[in-house]
Amino acid sequence: MLTTLQTEAKRLRIGGVTALSTIDYPGELAAVVYCQGCPWRCRYCHNGHLLTAEADAPIAWDQLRGLLERRQGLLDGVVFSGGEPTAQRALPAAMREIRALGYKIGLHTSGAYPERLHPLLPLVDWVGLDIKALPEDYPLVTGASDSGNKAWHSLRLLLDADIALEVRTTPMPGLDDTDYLNRLLQRLAGEGVGDYALQQCRTAYALDRQLPDARELQVADWAHQPFKHFKLRQG
Ligand code: SF4
Repeated sequence: MLTTLQTEAKRLRIGGVTALSTIDYPGELAAVVYCQGCPWRCRYCHNGHLLTAEADAPIAWDQLRGLLERRQGLLDGVVFSGGEPTAQRALPAAMREIRALGYKIGLHTSGAYPERLHPLLPLVDWVGLDIKALPEDYPLVTGASDSGNKAWHSLRLLLDADIALEVRTTPMPGLDDTDYLNRLLQRLAGEGVGDYALQQCRTAYALDRQLPDARELQVADWAHQPFKHFKLRQG
């Protein structure tokens, strides 16, 4: 007989799983669970297959759970990624089930659902939050009118919660000139972001095939200074 938690966790719609990653959860060996569905349509998104609510070839919860039971002691954590994991109501139950197996929980999120993020915080050990642009420019990236307020509200929640957090930006072509990045980084530092990564945009598999190529990221030395940890990911 399944518990309510198990029944709810089994509803998680999973589009893919990476059994072992060294790069998705800083300092930890982790499995990555790609959750299906996202409310936004970022022009540079390269996960088009994860955006719809239902996957073409979904992975069953029991299959994931079986994998994680076999890897106990070999992996440190499980990262819920996407798509947008918080788009799914089953996420809290899924996190509780995985925590009970002894794994740390990581979350990659765009911050699209601040009201759902808040109750998840006690279940999460580390968060990677995408901040895509200044709030007023979000619709240019996501196509969603209120997306900037939601993402920056999520940032505030995470900073106030004092949770282990990496904020990342993948600047979209057109919002990647030095002046714009300066303003964005200053704003983020002013909000209190300590751990920050700037990531090169790759447009080869972009959702919007008309998106021009991104310029190679150039960041002045000063850009490192307001942050405790700063990473430039060119790869
Ligand atoms: S929020 Fe992430 S998954 Fe959703 S469309 Fe944007 S880049 Fe893709």
